[in-house]
Amino acid sequence: MKKVLFTVLALLIALSVPAQESAKKEIKAVAGETTVAPQGSYTPSFAADGTNKKVKNVILMIGDGMGLGAVNAAMFANGGELTMTNLRHFGYVRTQSANKFTTDSAASGTAYATGVKTNNGFLGVDPSKQAMANIPERIEPLGYACGVVSTDEMTGATPAAFFAHQPSRSMSAQIWGDLATSHLCFASAGSMPNLKKQSEKIRKSLNDNFKIVGSIDEIDPADPKVIYLPESVQYSERGDFLPATTAKAIEFLSRKSKKGFFLMVEGARIDKESHANNCEGTVRETLDFDKAIEAAIRFAEKDGHTLVLISADHETGAVSMRNANSAKGSVEVSYATSSHSPITVPLFIYGPHASDFTCVQENSDIALKIVSLLGGE
Ligand SMILES: [Zn+2]
Repeated sequence: MKKVLFTVLALLIALSVPAQESAKKEIKAVAGETTVAPQGSYTPSFAADGTNKKVKNVILMIGDGMGLGAVNAAMFANGGELTMTNLRHFGYVRTQSANKFTTDSAASGTAYATGVKTNNGFLGVDPSKQAMANIPERIEPLGYACGVVSTDEMTGATPAAFFAHQPSRSMSAQIWGDLATSHLCFASAGSMPNLKKQSEKIRKSLNDNFKIVGSIDEIDPADPKVIYLPESVQYSERGDFLPATTAKAIEFLSRKSKKGFFLMVEGARIDKESHANNCEGTVRETLDFDKAIEAAIRFAEKDGHTLVLISADHETGAVSMRNANSAKGSVEVSYATSSHSPITVPLFIYGPHASDFTCVQENSDIALKIVSLLGGE
């Protein structure tokens, strides 16, 4: 009898082992590789970098899902260089949300925009759904001109965090409505076809408050407030939309106010490509974002009073390097997940007061430091 019992027990233990092992194997390790043509990089002079000169303008650049893995993959594929990695001041940003260890773009965007950590899915509101003032709402009344540029749809979580207050990121009609009454004077993201799907009432309120244009050439710095909606923000269709619109937004905002400006630029699709575990997409979207960074750095270098902050709302894909050959422009990475990961993200900094950010800080701290440097509360 004892022997039978022992055999049954042994059998049960043996059966339970594969179940445990399969639970451990839930984490995927998907490898991918790509080869790209190098696009070079820009190294500015560092005359005003790290000085205590007054900060007039802030350009906050958010690579959605851009962790150190994506930065490394793009850097090694691009001959070992990027404009962002040519900079001299670096920090780290922790991205945890109010209710989850792994954030989404809505909660992290809200932290970057308002200085308050909120729940995943919430946009511009705190965990009790109370609206929180975003950077444009705090500094536009002081005379600053404010804008956003993104390769996401306008109602995407990151651009929307800088103008909307909604308890859910999926409330796209309400988010379009919030843009009409926002404190922005420049907004550009996807897309004209998306706007055309909105109600008559929403389109009228946007038209009453902004001039809406469908091409970059129609943007006139003499217009008080402009929304530029391209036909598409997909990589294969948008061309140089992100770097060109970043440069245009800087030109528009810098002429709009003598006091200064705040611009948020998002490279939205690094995240989407990393969700898909697409190495080629992760690299090409990060390289496109680096071109927009170059546009910002070139202006900041000439201006001397502009602070540029480059980071991410969270990491996506748990991207790690397997191999690379910078001379050939080839890189091989692996993804441990098709979701976001909670790891701390890098921050690249250029301009006066750069050393205020060379530490490990929360995403919400970034907003508070920006507002404080611009003399707001
Ligand atoms: Zn994502």
